[in-house]
Amino acid sequence: MTANLLDFDLDGLAAFCERLGEKRFRATQLFRWIHQKGASSFDQMSDLAKSLREKLATTARIQGLEAISQQMSADGTIKWLFDVGDGNAVEAVFIPEDDRGTLCVSSQAGCAVGCRFCSTGHQGFSRNLKTGEIVAQLWFAEFFLRQHLKRSDRVITNVVMMGMGEPLQNYDELVPALRVMLDDHGYGLSRRRLTVSTSGVVPMMDRLAQDCPVALAVSLHAPNDALRDNLVPLNRKYPIAELMEACNRYLAHAPRDFITFEYCMLDGVNDQPEHARELVALVRKYATGGVWCKFNLIPFNPFPASGLKRSPVERVQAFAKILLDAGIVTTVRKTRGDDIDAACGQLAGDVKDRTGVDERMARQRKVMLHPVVTLAGKSEET
Ligand code: SAH
Ligand code: SF4
Repeated sequence: MTANLLDFDLDGLAAFCERLGEKRFRATQLFRWIHQKGASSFDQMSDLAKSLREKLATTARIQGLEAISQQMSADGTIKWLFDVGDGNAVEAVFIPEDDRGTLCVSSQAGCAVGCRFCSTGHQGFSRNLKTGEIVAQLWFAEFFLRQHLKRSDRVITNVVMMGMGEPLQNYDELVPALRVMLDDHGYGLSRRRLTVSTSGVVPMMDRLAQDCPVALAVSLHAPNDALRDNLVPLNRKYPIAELMEACNRYLAHAPRDFITFEYCMLDGVNDQPEHARELVALVRKYATGGVWCKFNLIPFNPFPASGLKRSPVERVQAFAKILLDAGIVTTVRKTRGDDIDAACGQLAGDVKDRTGVDERMARQRKVMLHPVVTLAGKSEET
């Protein structure tokens, strides 16, 4: 099998070229052809010697993903569904704004974390994406958009790892993909324009701080462990106190940065004034100075199997006001691409094996709405 060059960051590509007996600067040329010009065949690479192009043709390939559907929203949002084989598909979403173009990228087919309010979580986990499959979403979208919008400059200015999957549960494939996005010979994104969103995989947050400290978003969704255990099952492994300490360690590597806390507003579940006040106390307990964090309140995007509802606008505003009055920077996310189901948590490419997933989620929902505590003090679920 030939090597897919989308799997390599620049160092990886240089090592590959060395194995072919080529110098590092050849790797840089090749990398630029692929990621700055969107080349998909070696014939196009006119400044590479013919002998090298022939060598590449027998040892390597540039293999993107096939888009099996493309939907455009009235607000300019575009959602692609990519085939990743074996009946699995992942989605990427482009969100244009006045001063930027953001691509939301997937890291896994499905997700093993199983958050109650997330349709990807309801699918269960299929598999990790390869580095090349993560990069391919950006590669495809960027060069499609340049053609579509008749632009020669860069269209995608920001990437958020907020599509399907938990990026920090696919760490080894994620980091080289981030490096391709950051590389000046690649997509040249700055650290602050590249965001990894995590449900709180504490050990991997520490590794990311060392290896590739990009902007970090943490999906909090609850101010205390009892509630978060239920919404984000990973909390049982890494509870809030550990998560907050990990945020502090992360910021120690990126001193001028802040953590973005995402908080999905669920009607009657986590949207009461006392939850907001608890969040204020939590931030005050852990914040080490300056603008330590920002809150991004996300109106829940409903999907039938969740059994949850979006908080009314007034309640979201009242919640935001409590945080703002306490001096915490807070924004309410606009929903985009509603008409094409491209909003957060609605990303749900088909996965092959759904066996048991709906049953598991239904059981969890029952526990959430009617907590049954046995005499041993354990919930019904355990
Ligand atoms: N697994 C990572 C990144 C992907 S999810 C994480 O959980 O952070 C990206 C964001 O969308 C997360 O903050 C997630 O909590 C949020 N989200 C998931 N389902 C949602 C829904 N139905 N409505 C609104 N936001 C949702
Ligand atoms: Fe996975 Fe994130 Fe969805 Fe939770 S919110 S199930 S971590 S993709």
